[in-house]
Amino acid sequence: MDDHPFLVAGGGIGGLAAALALARHGRQVRLFEQSAGFEEVGAGLQMSPNGVRALKAIGAWEAVEPSCVIPSEIHVRDGLSGALLQRIRLGKSFEQRFGAPYRVCHRADLLAGLLAAVRRNFGIELNTGRRATAVAEDGATTRLGFADGTSASGAAVIAADGIRSALRQAVAGIVQPIPRGVILYRALMPLQRVPPEIEADCVTLWLCPGAHVVHYPVSNWRNFNIVAAIDGTLPDDGWKTPAHAGEVTKRLAGVCEELALLLAAPASWMRWPGADLPALPRWSSGRVTLLGDSAHATLPFLAQGAVMALEDAVILARSLGRGDGVAEAFRAYDAARRPRTARLQEQSRAMSRIYHASGPLAVARNLTFRLAGQGFALSRLEWLYRWTPDTPA
Ligand SMILES: Cc1cc2nc3c(=O)[nH]c(=O)nc-3n(C[C@H](O)[C@H](O)[C@H](O)COP(=O)(O)OP(=O)(O)OC[C@H]3O[C@@H](n4cnc5c(N)ncnc54)[C@H](O)[C@@H]3O)c2cc1C
Repeated sequence: MDDHPFLVAGGGIGGLAAALALARHGRQVRLFEQSAGFEEVGAGLQMSPNGVRALKAIGAWEAVEPSCVIPSEIHVRDGLSGALLQRIRLGKSFEQRFGAPYRVCHRADLLAGLLAAVRRNFGIELNTGRRATAVAEDGATTRLGFADGTSASGAAVIAADGIRSALRQAVAGIVQPIPRGVILYRALMPLQRVPPEIEADCVTLWLCPGAHVVHYPVSNWRNFNIVAAIDGTLPDDGWKTPAHAGEVTKRLAGVCEELALLLAAPASWMRWPGADLPALPRWSSGRVTLLGDSAHATLPFLAQGAVMALEDAVILARSLGRGDGVAEAFRAYDAARRPRTARLQEQSRAMSRIYHASGPLAVARNLTFRLAGQGFALSRLEWLYRWTPDTPA
């Protein structure tokens, strides 16, 4: 078996998870992140049972768990009337049903936990300020080229360089992110500043005409995360663009009083355009493969973007562990993962249409939520949440 190091481009959730998963399978890893440091920014994440299982499989759950929050319930509410449409209890019976807990955390905490686990691992070399620009197979090795003119050689390249991947082209041709007509706003504030009208210990989803809002506590109950998804368009200028003062409250004028109070509470909001990728025909070419958002960026409406990157990492390392050679292992990983992530991409798009419905469609949706109850809601999530590292797809 080839003993050159594996090269990972991108030090986000997917890249760090891949490095850990490979190191656990005895591979040396060199990871290259374009930023000067690891970017512990972003919004809240729902760590569903499949994500917890993936974190356990790569040995990172112990580092991540302390910053996670155990929410009491998930509530779905009508954003205009405030009415409770559905309640999902997250206690013992939920955990028994899915075989692992459900938690919420902040992207920064997940990244910090992964980094802590990576730093304890001597088989992983971390490099920052290295922007990968090109990849090429070169005899028995694979070469990664950087914007500063340098290059590195290894056994294989894993392109975990996010939705705007520079390396994707080498595997799948030119594929651009597709804006999906929704603007995502995120805010983070101290938990004490949450208005008393809001049940701060729950995950709450508010459904409004042309919009929805999700919120929950993060960072071991220190902070409160709010994300509002509102129909509209924006130029793509990254993850760190501030929204104008009053933009969110103005665009969501007309929501019920509790929600309006909450939306007015944060000192500031950030915004980014909601985009995803089409399902790609392949993720791998020879000894180069895509992982995470570079392969299957998804709208965040089923809250699975980070979790899918974690699952990818587990399956990639397992495929390599079978000892069939790198290109064969990458093909097996690609074949195992693509159907699941394509289904998620499609369902996430559909959720935005359901969540943002108005008029008679919204009335029908609300009735369905009320009648369906917890059992039905959970049965629709089984294919996602029951995943284990042994699940074929
Ligand atoms: C700064 C940041 C903030 C985010 N905030 C949110 C958020 O608020 N809500 C949300 O739903 N999702 C957010 N995401 C996306 C979310 O983290 C991903 O959908 C998910 O975790 C999948 O992870 P990934 O590792 O595939 O991609 P990402 O998390 O996007 O990580 C990709 C990493 O690769 C690096 N990179 C990119 N190009 C290159 C290159 N050419 N060479 C080397 N390194 C490169 C990036 O700097 C980044 O660290 C954010 C991502 C980033 C990078």
